Amino acid sequence: MKVTIVGCSGSFPGPDSPASCYLLEAEGFRLLLDFGSGALGALQRHIDLYDVDAICLTHLHADHCLDLCGYHVARTYGPAAPYPRVPVYAPKDASRRLAAAYGMPEEPGLETAFDFVALAPGNFEIGPFTVTAGRVNHPVETYGFRAAHGGRSVAYSGDTGESEELVRLADGADLLLCEASFLEGPDLPKGLHLTGRQAAEHAAKAGVGRLVLTHLVPWHDRLRVLDEASTGGFAGPIELARSGAVYELA
Ligand SMILES: [Zn+2]
Ligand SMILES: [Zn+2]
Repeated sequence: MKVTIVGCSGSFPGPDSPASCYLLEAEGFRLLLDFGSGALGALQRHIDLYDVDAICLTHLHADHCLDLCGYHVARTYGPAAPYPRVPVYAPKDASRRLAAAYGMPEEPGLETAFDFVALAPGNFEIGPFTVTAGRVNHPVETYGFRAAHGGRSVAYSGDTGESEELVRLADGADLLLCEASFLEGPDLPKGLHLTGRQAAEHAAKAGVGRLVLTHLVPWHDRLRVLDEASTGGFAGPIELARSGAVYELA
């Protein structure tokens, strides 16, 4: 399995990264985890515009889903349109919400380009991947994911506060893409985001092979996020996500 970080900026795009988007590839199948603001542009550095086979959305905050609107244009009106509909595994309100974001009537909404499938916790097959979805700790319906293929696995936190479900999803994963949106401080809101230290604590509990800190908010000093993660008790390698970084899990 090959994992490419397309976008890792938290809450909105930064100067050197779109918002959340991760490309997973195995056996020629291409699965996106999240499709946040700006990701459609950077995605084309890695694969052809029309080579997305499936999309999973953790939740419906704009920085995780909004580029489906632009991608709808590409697949509905591109030179060889209509292109096959791409399955989009997302919280149940996704079709209506994204139609509203685009300014489309609910029927057909974006259904000409996408086949929306309502997420629920559990395991399912997407192409060659076994995907596990679990509810994490964020103010709206939000899922973390684990994707496994060929004995290797990657877990992705989505947006979350402290979450036992995230530990379960990431259990023994080769790679954990974990959000680290907050810097340590007094009175951090609960049930929203993690600090670098908390991300590392989750990685340690789950016993993952490698921790990549992501959803990095542009107004923070990311070296401080990395420094705080070093206090979380995780003994494995920790690094900051970077748009364009590739991890070969083999
Ligand atoms: Zn977010
Ligand atoms: Zn969010």
